[in-house]
Amino acid sequence: MTDVGTQNETKGLKVLRPESRFRFACHEGLGCFTQCCRDITIVLTPYDILRIKNALGISSGLFLEQYTHSLMGKSGFSGVILKMADDEQRSCPFVTPHGCSIYEDRPWSCRVYPLQPESTKLTEKSGKSYYSVMGIPFCQGFEENQTTTVQNWLASQGIPHYLEMEKPFKKITTNPFLSDKHIKNYKIQQMCFMACYDLDRFRRFVFESSFLHQFDTDPREIDKIGSDDVALYRFAMKWLEYGLIGQHVLKVNPGVLAAKKQELGIR
Ligand code: SF4
Ligand code: SF4
Repeated sequence: MTDVGTQNETKGLKVLRPESRFRFACHEGLGCFTQCCRDITIVLTPYDILRIKNALGISSGLFLEQYTHSLMGKSGFSGVILKMADDEQRSCPFVTPHGCSIYEDRPWSCRVYPLQPESTKLTEKSGKSYYSVMGIPFCQGFEENQTTTVQNWLASQGIPHYLEMEKPFKKITTNPFLSDKHIKNYKIQQMCFMACYDLDRFRRFVFESSFLHQFDTDPREIDKIGSDDVALYRFAMKWLEYGLIGQHVLKVNPGVLAAKKQELGIR
């Protein structure tokens, strides 16, 4: 049951308002329990990967190798999807008879269900998020008596935090400069992949290459990214913003800059 009376049909866009109510509950007693965790395409965000690899206690490299496929998008940015098991039902590798084994760290798209974001140029321009209810025919959760509002559901599933964490990544991938340009250079594509998804490798790159010599960095920030994955992810996004979009979010080491100018004969 969705509260159709509060649907917003502005300019042909049919979405729910934050206060719109819908009927839904999911629990182990339902006949459909865990059916939705099979044969599905789950696109993982950088923050999804950060959370899951830490929940599993493995490196980002091992997680990517064992649990994901990557797909190259037209923009030159890769997307990463969860690899389903090679069984008859193509089960999610984390599903158990009692539910999700990584429930606290499950991906964004599993959290948001049964809602789905409605994204159009209009909604993106407004900077607001809109949702509709997904209609999966076998899902019995819609027949339960419990009702909730869109905003309460999103809050209860931790979605505001996930949206906040996705912001620096989205700022890059939705930048008009990049969407027109497309990244064609293979080496740059690989650097983007590492910064977005393979954080443990990015950390080694920062600390084991000449990276720290190239940039005038804050020692406290560098200290933090040595052990804090969220700080490392934010730093990686800053590096991409600097390198791909030319935003001055990182400062080049003045000595390196002077040497480069001398090399190029620039005063
Ligand atoms: S199909 Fe719906 S009700 Fe059933 S387990 Fe999945 S989300 Fe829950
Ligand atoms: S990650 Fe968890 S909730 Fe998502 S499909 Fe897999 S088992 Fe289901």
